[in-house]
Amino acid sequence: MTGTFTRIPARTAEIGGGVPVARMLPSRHRRTIGAWCFLDHAGPARFAAGQGLRVGPHPHTGLQTFTWMLEGEVLHRDSLGNEQVIRAGQVNLMTAGRGIAHTEESVAGETRLHTAQLWIALPARVAGMAPRFDHYPDLPRWSEGGAEAVLLAGAFMGRQSPVLVHTPLVGVDWHAPRDAALTLALDPAFEYGLVPLTGRATVQGQALAADELLYLPPGAGTLRLELPAGTRALLIGGAPFGEDITIWWNFVGHGKPYIAQAQRDWQAHSERFGEVHGFDGPRIEAPPVPWER
Ligand code: MN
Repeated sequence: MTGTFTRIPARTAEIGGGVPVARMLPSRHRRTIGAWCFLDHAGPARFAAGQGLRVGPHPHTGLQTFTWMLEGEVLHRDSLGNEQVIRAGQVNLMTAGRGIAHTEESVAGETRLHTAQLWIALPARVAGMAPRFDHYPDLPRWSEGGAEAVLLAGAFMGRQSPVLVHTPLVGVDWHAPRDAALTLALDPAFEYGLVPLTGRATVQGQALAADELLYLPPGAGTLRLELPAGTRALLIGGAPFGEDITIWWNFVGHGKPYIAQAQRDWQAHSERFGEVHGFDGPRIEAPPVPWER
């Protein structure tokens, strides 16, 4: 393995319902890993019934929201009329394209939450596509070096995830029920990020704590990974995105004028985003775009 690793510390943020998250992307150290442009880790948390996640109607553009559920159940609703509960071991993929709105809330009576939510930037050639929502209840699973792997997105070591993406990328969840040591075959054209979600990991001899993301530049063909018993870690990667995108609030887009228009359209209740029905609470208003204040 050559090249320089970058350690990306998480910063603490809060999402709907006062749920604390460890946010690792975007970061001043790193904006994207492949097309992965946002990484939040929530939990593992316990809360009283009636508390938990509660994110009111809000819009997205130019991205896919990718939700990987580890514990608890969350209800997704969107302006296309989809209503989908996501459970442990499942992925929800919402492709915003030119625009969509959605809500997310812990289901009634739920007291647990452990999830990773990532965004995948859409390249210009499909960024204006019609919005869609896909639920993936079953993903490829296998064992490797004593660890259990779930292929969340892309292709990895001869397997293929069904999750619909638009650029070359990969996501793999690793869980070590006992001490595990693995040598992974990497795509030298990809850059990668590895983060322990619970426990800790050693990557090419470097120790990583929970919520500490290690960036690995392109060029490596293998990766040595040690996962102590109980560790869960996330590997993401992809071909360097190579397009200049702006990420602001819940919008991703090519250029600030695009983002400013999306902000105006949401504030004007434009049909571009539609309405989410069934959520008991107000929509989330967009702040003013900072470069037009
Ligand atoms: Mn959202």
